[in-house]
Amino acid sequence: MRIGRRLQGLAISDIRSMTRACDAVGGINLGQGVCDLPTPPPVALGAKRAIDEGRAIYTAPEGIAPLREAIAAKLERRYGLRYDPRDEVLVTAGATGGFAAACMALLEPGDEVILFEPYYGYHYNTLVALGLRPVLVPMLPPDWAFDAAAFDRAVTSKTRAVVLCTPSNPSGKVWSRAELALLAERLEAHDLWAITDEIYEHFVYDDAVHVPLASTGVARERCVLLGGFSKTFSVTGWRLGYLCAPPEAARAINVCNDLLYVCAPTPLQWAAVEGLAMPEDYYVELQQSYARKRRVLCDALRAAGLEPYEPQGAYYVLADVRSLKKATAKEASMAILERCGVASVPGTSFFVDPVGETLARFCFAKEDSVLEEAARRLRTL
Ligand code: GLN
Repeated sequence: MRIGRRLQGLAISDIRSMTRACDAVGGINLGQGVCDLPTPPPVALGAKRAIDEGRAIYTAPEGIAPLREAIAAKLERRYGLRYDPRDEVLVTAGATGGFAAACMALLEPGDEVILFEPYYGYHYNTLVALGLRPVLVPMLPPDWAFDAAAFDRAVTSKTRAVVLCTPSNPSGKVWSRAELALLAERLEAHDLWAITDEIYEHFVYDDAVHVPLASTGVARERCVLLGGFSKTFSVTGWRLGYLCAPPEAARAINVCNDLLYVCAPTPLQWAAVEGLAMPEDYYVELQQSYARKRRVLCDALRAAGLEPYEPQGAYYVLADVRSLKKATAKEASMAILERCGVASVPGTSFFVDPVGETLARFCFAKEDSVLEEAARRLRTL
């Protein structure tokens, strides 16, 4: 059987295979970032109402106007970022769908794209699937610092774009204003696009603040900003995200958005309008509850001898699994699953660097009772 050459090295991610392994033993899944908290009532009711009212047909590929307006209003309110909802905002099939459409529209096979390591595997593999070449710039533990000189060394005459994920999945790094300013300078100097995945924007801890790269200096004209509702409203299965970009880029990306997805699910778009109308308290409580969950998980990992790298943002923790004395991260993750029924994702899903073999990623987007049970089990390791 013939398979496209660029797809030959690709397989379904370890994020999903660990979910299967976890389901097989009835374990607690801290692997895949599924976020199984209840859907906020206004969001759930909004979806039900839209279905009852028969809002079932295609929307325009760019999504319904009230949602694009609400997205633009939110970005202006939070970050002072102005996007025109008429031609600079698209509703997408998740941030993942927005990412694929943006790469397909703005880049050409053979182009090089810089990713920071640890990277989110879907970013890396989507680039590969589209015939693009990911080039890694390491940001390694313990401090995940941005090395501007390493970035400059990674740029070649074929580099066209950089992918930024802040707050980062999986490291939890939140890029500082100073780091973003350095990166913004490089976009100009090397004439690059930046595709910024900001799906975890509301998940920041201690004194970390989320800043979009697009709000830094003149970077806006070079940025494709991706966000979504999966994490914010705990609806990972709804596949609803958005993308903001200057008009010409947005127009090209929307052609791909249409070809790939036609439009995002119609009733769910109406539900997101209700979600974005929720008051600021919602986000404050979200942050406080996730800060508590982070503490529960990090304390348990530390007690288990799996030293955590405490994240500043997002809802994952990378932990050092060397104390388990396994040859690979996959074996370490499987040993944790077998010994205490808690699933994680091997660090190798996020690294080419061998440090990936010493790490596993644990997700804390779980109901408190489930997370506490997982913490109790981890402590028995
Ligand atoms: N973003 C989530 C994670 O990193 C889920 C990815 C997925 O299952 N496709 O786990």
